[in-house]
Amino acid sequence: MPPTSKLSRIRNIGIIAHIDAGKTTVSERILYYTGKSYKIGEVHDGEAVMDWMPQEQERGITITSAVTTCNWKNSEIHIIDTPGHVDFTIEVERSLRVLDGAVIVFDAVAGVEPQSETVWHQADKYGVPKIAFVNKMDRVGADFFRVIEMMKERFSAVPLPIQIPWGQEEKFQGIVDLISEKCVIWDDSSKGAHYEAIDIPGDLMPEVELQRERMLESVAEFDDDIAEKYLGGEEISQKELHAAIRKATLAVRLVPVLCGTALKNKGIQPLLDAVVDFLPSPEDVPPVSGIHPVTKEELTRISSTKEPLAALAFKVMQDEGRKLTYLRIYSGQIKTGEELYNASKNRKEKASRLLKMHANKRERLEQAGAGDIVSVMGLKETATGDTICDEAHPILLESMEFYEPVISQA
Ligand code: GDP
Repeated sequence: MPPTSKLSRIRNIGIIAHIDAGKTTVSERILYYTGKSYKIGEVHDGEAVMDWMPQEQERGITITSAVTTCNWKNSEIHIIDTPGHVDFTIEVERSLRVLDGAVIVFDAVAGVEPQSETVWHQADKYGVPKIAFVNKMDRVGADFFRVIEMMKERFSAVPLPIQIPWGQEEKFQGIVDLISEKCVIWDDSSKGAHYEAIDIPGDLMPEVELQRERMLESVAEFDDDIAEKYLGGEEISQKELHAAIRKATLAVRLVPVLCGTALKNKGIQPLLDAVVDFLPSPEDVPPVSGIHPVTKEELTRISSTKEPLAALAFKVMQDEGRKLTYLRIYSGQIKTGEELYNASKNRKEKASRLLKMHANKRERLEQAGAGDIVSVMGLKETATGDTICDEAHPILLESMEFYEPVISQA
């Protein structure tokens, strides 16, 4: 079902992985397939997007931008760069705080590795819904179901394969979508830009039926309506399944698992579909909490432009010699040229420019509101961790005493 309100169309996500699992390749492919000029069915447009990629990589935008905005199927996805190294610092906590959902990338050969395991547990601790992508299905030794078993052993949330691979290693040709009961295949000559859904070949059917049963059983455990229909042998529509999986994913009970190979351009578009379908919008997450800077009273702000402004500066960077401050806006609005109140420093500064960073361009904004992530020029004194808010309704979203050391459960 296409989402409707502006807020419900935003996804603030992080892509998390153990080093070498393919986070960079997955991220770059996402930017490629979401490139503005690209349209499904027009290969030359796809190539045009590919053309700018090496230049962009040279300029380092995909790497140095703290947030990259891309669009997919009527939704706006903000990809928040999460720290590459996983240690138990405020950096990790802050990045988990500004994102609403995560994509965890696993290597189909190496499976669950220490860094992805640690971050998975931390994301659980903060209630961050996730989906998993088992990458490198083309590699010798790739084994999708072994990775699923590893997830089951190590995590409390239940991994839910919503796809299974069609072949593995050099025979990996595509995926079977267990929800739509179709095979998705990619056209190698179009750098993966073309993909189509075809009927499931007969020899795959027994495995697909088994895996679909398992999927329905898992979903039924979390959803009474699905359980009733499943036990009664009634038809469960795709729409109902989607809704039930989304609900269980947002409740951090189920983790939809997908697969593919980023290097060989297979599996990225369904991954983007899953980000939109199953990960939360800012509307779906609990209100942000903080304290009053003077009275220390506990306060919350719901994700609405009608609430007083509350935003967290989560990253400060130099960009072409100018300071860029990245803000996650939780509530209220910011306008270009406005004086913004920094509650952490108790001072005001002018937001001279508001920007959204796309992979191949920067977009100037006149205003931004609740749920959005923007970069701001002109905030000379603002540091990471500072709260920008309405002076008449001050709030501190972060203070050092909130951060107890996180003990690894790995
Ligand atoms: P990161 O450290 O998680 O960002 O991983 P990278 O994206 O840099 O990938 C690490 C290595 O794995 C690189 O040499 C990639 O080319 C390779 N790689 C990434 N995805 C795949 C894949 O789907 N299949 C194979 N065979 N190699 C991949």
